[in-house]
Formats: sequence, structure tokens, C-alpha cells
Amino acid sequence: MPPDEFELIGRYFTGRGALRDDVRLSVGDDAAVVTPRAGAELVLALDTIVAGVHFPADTSGRFVGHRVLAVNLSDLAAMGAEPAWVLLGLTLPAADEAWIAEFAAGFEVLARRFGVALIGGDTTRGPLTATATVGGWVGPGAALTRSCARPGDDLWVSGTPGDAGAGLAILQSGLAAGGATREELLRRFLLPEPRVGLGMALCGVASACIDISDGLAGDLEKLCSASGVGAQLDCLRLPRSAQLLEAAGESASMRYALAGGDDYELLFTAPAAARNRIEDLTRLVPVSLIGEITATPSVELEGAQLERDLVHGFDHFKERPDDPR
Ligand code: ADP
Ligand code: MG
Repeated sequence: MPPDEFELIGRYFTGRGALRDDVRLSVGDDAAVVTPRAGAELVLALDTIVAGVHFPADTSGRFVGHRVLAVNLSDLAAMGAEPAWVLLGLTLPAADEAWIAEFAAGFEVLARRFGVALIGGDTTRGPLTATATVGGWVGPGAALTRSCARPGDDLWVSGTPGDAGAGLAILQSGLAAGGATREELLRRFLLPEPRVGLGMALCGVASACIDISDGLAGDLEKLCSASGVGAQLDCLRLPRSAQLLEAAGESASMRYALAGGDDYELLFTAPAAARNRIEDLTRLVPVSLIGEITATPSVELEGAQLERDLVHGFDHFKERPDDPR
């Protein structure tokens, strides 16, 4: 007999993630109880991933478990917050225990790495969907936001955007690559790395920050419109990985870097006076200076022949006849 809901919760979702001494009551009661941190502010975020929309429906449970936590930790990273807890809502078409065990293992590894305790959730039957709510801490008034970029600020990005989009294209047979290049691009899509340490280090340094989920250019537009500014992005300074260049070539790799999506890198702004401090952060993760914030409220892409529609990023409710999402 397949396990029932309570057996599943007991086996896979109880006592998971980091052990934290600020958790007074965890999985098993009607709600969790945690102790607030004196003098700090609580940062909360929720993100849902849906099979066939955010990941291919046949993705291994391990990658789905990793992804649902990673995309949420990425939101905390973009706010500069230190992660603490997570609540998990899991909707499953069937109690496929092998898949659930993989899911729980992928979730667990990431939760422990970032010191996050799984303190509750809900388990239901339906089309495969995973939702997490994460909570974490920032110092008073210290949260990074999208809305405080100023004209003259530098524009920075972490890592090598575009790799994850290329990895998804490989999975969907829209891009061909072999050997170690293929493996690395697939890994970048399947195992996104939330830039938590970088986000925390940017508190008090960056003026504005956003995580890139829908494509760098579109997310830059969101940051600019929230700040009431524009940007000049120098495409020739966009860091592109050797693997992306090898698989996609010069021109398509630029499109992946600007519009690929699923990167979960941080895009942030800072006054030029902070340049040395930011370059020092390369010990955490590589960061690149890619442009400047302007007073004119529009995003200009320089140095590459690109269509304007790249700037608009991904929108779930927009009609797109040739797009499977
Ligand atoms: P309720 O009937 O109050 O909704 P449930 O029976 O759904 O409670 O859940 C029992 C306990 O298990 C609760 O503490 C809940 O937070 C926890 N729980 C349920 N599903 C999950 C999950 N997927 N991950 C973590 N905790 C879960
Ligand atoms: Mg319930």
C-alpha cells in the first residue's frame, strides 16, 4: 500500500533541514512557533513552482526539491536577508515514494547548507506543484530593495547569466551540446545556486538589488522602474561562461545572457565609491560591472544587435503562441 499523507510527512518532512535553537515548535502541531531575533527585521517570501511551467514534468524529485527551496532562498538573497526557516506546500499527483524521497533529499541538502529549518507545510494531491514560504533576518532598515538605485550608480551582476536558460534549452532539445559542456549547462539549470552570502554582504553597500529569474534585461527593467531610473547596459561586458559560448556561439549566447531566465544571479547597483568593496566580494562569487544607472527612465542595451522585446522578460500571463511555458 502506498503511504498515506501522515506517513509521508513523518518519514520525509519531519526534523528536516538545520536544527535551530530559535524553533520552539516545528512539524506536528497546527502551526510552528519561533522566537524572534531582538532588534532584527523579519523578511518573508513565497514562490511556487509548477510542473510543465517552471520545470519539465519528468524532472527528478531531487532537482525539484532543490529548486523550490533555491528559488525562495534567492528571494531572501536579493533582500540581503539571512535565511532561517521554511514552510513547504507540496501537491503531488500520487504518493510515488521513490520520487518523494528524492525530493526530500534534494530539499534537505540545500536546507542544511543554508542553516534553514523545515518547520511546517501542507501535503495535498493534485497536479505536481511545490510552494515554499521562507523567513529570514536583516538588520533594522537594512533590507536591500529594488527601489533605491540612483543615477550614476554602477550596475553589477553576479556569476554568468544565460547558462541556466541554455541548460533548459538543451533539456528541451532546442540547443545541442555534448560532454562536459552539456553537463555543466544542465547543472546550472537543474541546481540553481542562491547567492545568499553575496546578498548579505551587499547590505549597506548596494543601493538596489533584484534576483534574476525572468532574464537579466527584463529584471533590470523591473529594478529601474521601481527606482524611477534607467540604465545603460554594456552588453560587451556581460560575463558569459566558456560553456555557454561553446554551446550557443557569440550571438545566441548574448540572447541567453540577456533573456534566458532561471539564473538566480543577483543584479545590483551601488555608488562608484563602493567599487573596491564590491570587487573584494569576488571571493564569495564572481561579480562583474556591466553598466550604469541613468536618469532617463529607459533601459538601453549597448554593444549588441538585439531586438527590443528582449527587455521585457518573462510574463506568465502574456500570450506567446510559440512558447511552451
Ligand atoms: P492541518 O490539518 O492543521 O492542516 P496537516 O495534517 O496538514 O495539519 O499537517 C500536519 C503537520 O505536518 C503540520 O505541522 C504541518 O505543518 C506539517 N506538514 C504537512 N505537510 C508538510 C510538508 N510537506 N512539509 C513540512 N511539514 C508539513
Ligand atoms: Mg493541512
